[in-house]
Amino acid sequence: MKLHLPIYHLSGLSRNNCRLLEKLGINTILDLLLYFPRDYIKYRRVKISGLQIGDSATIIGKIKKHEIISPPKNPRLTIQTLIVKDKTGSIACKRFFNHPYYQSQQWRNEQISMYVNGSIVAVSGAVKADRYYGRILSSPEIRLIDIDEARDTKNSIIPIYPLTKGVSNELVQDAVSSALQLLELLIDPLPQDLRRKHGLMELQEAIAFIHQPPGESQLEAARRRLVFDEFFYLQLSFLLRRHQLLASEAVTNIAPVGPLLEQFYSQLPFSLTSAQRRVIDNILNDMTSKTPMNRLVQGDVGSGKTIVAVVAVLAAIQSGYQAALMAPTEVLAQQHYRKIATWFEPLGVSVQLLTGSTKTVKRREIHAQLETGELSVLVGTHALLQEKVNFHQLGLVVIDEQHRFGVQQRQHLLNKGNRPHVLTMTATPIPRTLALTLHGDLDVSQIDELPPGRQKIHTKVINQGAPAYDFIRHQVIQGHQAYIILPLVEESHKLDLRAAVVEYERLLTEIFPEFKVDLLHGRMTSAEKDEALNSFRDNKTQILVSTTVVEVGVDVPNATVILIDHADRFGLAQLHQLRGRVGRGSHRSYCLLLNTSKTAEAKARLEVLEKSTDGFFISEMDLRLRGPGVVMGYRQSGISEFALANILDDEELLNLARSMALAIVKSNPNLEQHPLMVAELKRWGLTSWNCALN
Ligand code: ADP
Ligand code: MG
Repeated sequence: MKLHLPIYHLSGLSRNNCRLLEKLGINTILDLLLYFPRDYIKYRRVKISGLQIGDSATIIGKIKKHEIISPPKNPRLTIQTLIVKDKTGSIACKRFFNHPYYQSQQWRNEQISMYVNGSIVAVSGAVKADRYYGRILSSPEIRLIDIDEARDTKNSIIPIYPLTKGVSNELVQDAVSSALQLLELLIDPLPQDLRRKHGLMELQEAIAFIHQPPGESQLEAARRRLVFDEFFYLQLSFLLRRHQLLASEAVTNIAPVGPLLEQFYSQLPFSLTSAQRRVIDNILNDMTSKTPMNRLVQGDVGSGKTIVAVVAVLAAIQSGYQAALMAPTEVLAQQHYRKIATWFEPLGVSVQLLTGSTKTVKRREIHAQLETGELSVLVGTHALLQEKVNFHQLGLVVIDEQHRFGVQQRQHLLNKGNRPHVLTMTATPIPRTLALTLHGDLDVSQIDELPPGRQKIHTKVINQGAPAYDFIRHQVIQGHQAYIILPLVEESHKLDLRAAVVEYERLLTEIFPEFKVDLLHGRMTSAEKDEALNSFRDNKTQILVSTTVVEVGVDVPNATVILIDHADRFGLAQLHQLRGRVGRGSHRSYCLLLNTSKTAEAKARLEVLEKSTDGFFISEMDLRLRGPGVVMGYRQSGISEFALANILDDEELLNLARSMALAIVKSNPNLEQHPLMVAELKRWGLTSWNCALN
């Protein structure tokens, strides 16, 4: 189809401009049509005499004068001035350019021939004070229009595109305009009756209006349609996939009861919360049904997800299968391994740990035992994905902190078994809308209750270190322990790491010379990490200075205070996770957030943590403040593709998209009647998993 042709087939686009557009990832005509504005500026039309400094407005008038100069003092700068006049007065419209391109004679000639005296223009911009002219329209949008348009224009909405160096908004606007000429070649995959029924605008029209909205209501309707599409195809792909999964028989037959589970329950030192019991029921139900389980367990930090996973593991093992548990960091994998090993030893279930730093001899032994089936449970990091890791009969895959892994990695581990059951867990609870968007193909269970007796963690935002150090000293003297977290965001960054080590030495020698202070970071060898954690766990170390490697999993109940340095650099969800390192025992616990930012926003953001301990609320605030892309990372497919949708505010459209996708999959699971939707799924890159559609 013509829309898939490269943009240089468009008339009126120079080679140079095509190359500039390619910098934005725009290669084909279709890319251009789907390159949506990131924002709009809305201008009210006013008479020139009515312009006030500080206004944003559109004026319409005739060009009286046009000049382009470079001031001798600053020859790299190009200043374009148009004097525009209407019946009530005149105003200077000034634009400033400092890219070499605007020095070229070619550009000047183009401009001079475009904006000739007497032409009618619509100019939209901000009114600013000017030493020479009194007031000017500063860096405005200028559009040539005809008399009819001049009469009809009341307000104007100017699209603002995402840009990069050397690419101007005007260039994109012009290119889009010429691509829009070919819009009629685009066919809407959504049948008309469905569109009508749900008040969705036709696709061609929506694309035209998103770029060139004649008014607010058309823009809103266009956005509604396009946001719908963003949700719809993602949900469609999830539901198709789920449909296939349900159609496939589970080969893994699990018995819900057995001696192993009974023995395990009887040796548990506490009783399960009702939320844990409910989720375990969900899981055992899934595992004993005819189709493979694909379930996500969400539970706030400390809600006790590990036990729930362990029950699933035992269920698989007592039915003769093996289980794998993958965690995103070595520290967390080790922690799981240690816990699981102590629980499983009396039950006679074999467990091993496999990480990047497992020694060769050990690794070979594990590989061999896995293949014979001698080894029942393998806990580890990404190392589990290695080619040499082969199971005799893998029946269950558990992935902890699953949002840290990509879809591919998850799939890779699943492929090591024959349609094994899958249990994923996350401690970053997310709102339902986002859960549907990210994991629309999963069943979701919530552990929405903490084990009894948990302390509220007293949280305070502070702006000086010294009182915090005194507070820590006081806690340690009482026999407790403390974490101090340093803002090493990127573990691999050498400079960051050095700064962390310097700070550690300061704490060690200057602040806390009387205590044993230890350092933990991601670049230490596994033996070193082990030693640091063990000695902290055994209270041989009182203060553990650490990077975010302790963010998840580390469980030392005697630790009662956590000080987070440069807390303003972390996301709220992450701070909430870090805070969960304390308050794990029966002692009153504290979280001190050292704010080094002076902005009111940073303070307000951190204060959310003072007020709330509700992981869902906090993560929603985090999503609102920083955006889902940043919070969730870009690893999950789908979410980063959204140009227009706002996961938190477009819930109604998400629900509509999901229910329509559901209806379509029900009646037409291979999309035979919707070949255009198949093409659209391919365009969104959502079909790789689905052989039936290829
Ligand atoms: P998370 O959900 O953050 O992974 P964990 O599974 O690590 O939480 O559990 C946190 C702590 O709570 C562990 O020490 C665990 O043994 C304990 N725990 C789990 N369930 C219960 C319960 N029902 N009653 C008391 N303690 C529990
Ligand atoms: Mg956990």
